[in-house]
Amino acid sequence: MQQTWEQVDEYITELLCPNDPVLDDVLVANRKADLPEIDVTGSQGKLLQLLVQMSGAKRVLEIGTLGAYSTIWMARGLPADGRIITLELVPLHAEVAKANIKRAGLEEKIEVRTGNALEHLAQMAEEQIQPFDLIFIDADKPNNPKYLEWALRFSRPGTIIIGDNVIRGGEIIDKHSTDPRVQGVRTFYEMIADNPKISATAVQTVGSKGYDGFMIGIVRE
Ligand code: SAM
Repeated sequence: MQQTWEQVDEYITELLCPNDPVLDDVLVANRKADLPEIDVTGSQGKLLQLLVQMSGAKRVLEIGTLGAYSTIWMARGLPADGRIITLELVPLHAEVAKANIKRAGLEEKIEVRTGNALEHLAQMAEEQIQPFDLIFIDADKPNNPKYLEWALRFSRPGTIIIGDNVIRGGEIIDKHSTDPRVQGVRTFYEMIADNPKISATAVQTVGSKGYDGFMIGIVRE
């Protein structure tokens, strides 16, 4: 099946969401710097961009930058005065991301904060940062429950919260899994299910990066 998923992904991407030279260069730069190839796919990047546009988001928070491939897709959906703050633990990833953002001409729109996301989030609370319109959680999955708590804290009614990799090849249904990423994502589901403040669903996806999916939710009035 993987081969079919890849071919269909290629078909969709070629027609509806082709990489332009800038996005191609981002992926080449990431590979040259030996970054893991765990960025979203082109079709998923386009989905994130559409969600930014559909929601009219101006203030976006991303947790987990890698080489800023997803960040650049989202930034391109922002209005002229839109901004993204993106958090990245690994200095090399942040360095490559900053160079990619510069090459994409998006330095004015994207701020990369390097270091542990949990520390940055606590710092942002001290700064009394304004709520975000859209928050994309895509870092270390064991910390998803903590990221969700922060995301809710930095939300307002109508804020969109998206979590990546919430299906994990179907492993998500194994309640006895010893994988801390699976357990982190399972707790993330349970916290959302128990919280009347957020309405959400998860969508299973297949494609060039296998079988996985997104959680998409909206903070209620
Ligand atoms: N959003 C990116 C994209 O689609 O192009 C992919 C992000 S990748 C899946 C996850 C990133 O989160 C990695 O670059 C990793 O270094 C970073 N990360 C892991 N733990 C983190 C932490 N505690 N704080 C901030 N970033 C972290």
